[in-house]
Amino acid sequence: MIGAEELRECCGIVGVSLSGGNSSLPIYYGLYALQHRGQESAGIAVCENGEINVLRGMGLVYEVFDERKLELLRGNNGIGHVRYSTTGASRIENAQPLVLDFRGGSIAIAHNGNLVNTQELRRELEREGRVFHTDSDSEVIAQLLVKELMRHDLLTAIKELMLRLRGSYSFVMLVNDALVAVRDPLGFRPLCIGEFNNGYVVASETAAIDVLGGRFLQDVPPGEVVIFKDGELLERHRLYKASNTAHCVFEYIYFARADSVLDGRLVYDVRLKIGKRLAEEHPAEADIVTPVPDSGVTFAIGYARHSNIPYMEGFIKNRYVGRTFIMPEQRMRDVAVRLKLNVVRRNVEDKRVIVVDDSIVRGTTSRKIANYIRRGGAREVHFRVGSPPIIAPCYMGIDMSTREELIAANHDVDEICRLIEADTLGYLSLEGLVAAIGLPARSLCLGCLTGRYPIEIPGEVCILRQLTLSQF
Ligand code: SF4
Repeated sequence: MIGAEELRECCGIVGVSLSGGNSSLPIYYGLYALQHRGQESAGIAVCENGEINVLRGMGLVYEVFDERKLELLRGNNGIGHVRYSTTGASRIENAQPLVLDFRGGSIAIAHNGNLVNTQELRRELEREGRVFHTDSDSEVIAQLLVKELMRHDLLTAIKELMLRLRGSYSFVMLVNDALVAVRDPLGFRPLCIGEFNNGYVVASETAAIDVLGGRFLQDVPPGEVVIFKDGELLERHRLYKASNTAHCVFEYIYFARADSVLDGRLVYDVRLKIGKRLAEEHPAEADIVTPVPDSGVTFAIGYARHSNIPYMEGFIKNRYVGRTFIMPEQRMRDVAVRLKLNVVRRNVEDKRVIVVDDSIVRGTTSRKIANYIRRGGAREVHFRVGSPPIIAPCYMGIDMSTREELIAANHDVDEICRLIEADTLGYLSLEGLVAAIGLPARSLCLGCLTGRYPIEIPGEVCILRQLTLSQF
């Protein structure tokens, strides 16, 4: 990944319920629209005549499925998943949807997020004799739900389940032939509902609804469960309500597609505002503003517009690069990186260049970018970053390294500027980010930017939220 170096989302999810016809094709295209949220594996589960059929595989959506396979997955109600692993190794057993059979039927689950109490829950379930087949936290959710379903009706079982889960979770499930969507009470990860003429779609992002030609209805409110079956919305209940939400700010900065609307805000607009704010906070005398593609593009447009400095592409990204081999020689390693990102020499030669990226994680990619542009003939390199410094890890489903690896956890801005070999460096302020998103800080998760988290994590500081969940 270029741009947000090694900053990876864990998953994208889709659920479709139709009054007639086959749900697997819209799920397939929905997953295609969410491919940016996970590229390691993809899977679809559908229910036909009370039986859940699932197909999962390693790779991109189009690599896992073809027309013949989709034809075999028949059913009005279904769910799908694209995955990048944050917990659980990258292997087929951990691919989702995960299916479990139990005395009352079968369930399939597709989960986006990360629990912080997985070990505790897993140990408890193992003590009760339950056997795990994967090391993912999604199986913990599935096993816990099965346990509750043995004792309660569906709604009460989900209520009990949510009471036990700590962390971020948006999921879609098939419980026999019902499609169930759940968003955690703090709303860390997005989840939204759209409507077709003959049914409904639930997806991580509105872009998936748009691609399917659906009408966006609304976000699933944090703490809510929505149940669909055969194209009907049967029930919806806001089971828990927290004093404040904790939407992940990196969904706005990086993960979500710019054409998605998250909690009422078009991501593209937020990114433009971030660029404008960055220009206000960190102006520079320069000849061009250039993005690190693709993640820096909208910020750079906002920066350029506000500063009246021309926007110009200094890099071209090769979108067709798959896996590159581990190269033993430095020269060949450089080839692999240039294959992904090449400098447009004519645009940067003899210029003072403002380079805009979304974040700096370890700093290694930023240094390479600064060096490339300098080797391309730039006179000065001014690095601007569309997020505040990342000083602490994420426990809620974003893979962004440990504290030791995070450059901003161990160095101040001047030191980072020297380390990445830029002439100047400017990060967006926390206030600037909150203002650009346009939600109060208390509604956002800022854990990795402040080191203070909205949920209890052993060894970390918990602030902001009195997690008083009021039961409806
Ligand atoms: S810690 Fe950072 S990346 Fe993780 S959920 Fe919070 S804002 Fe998002």
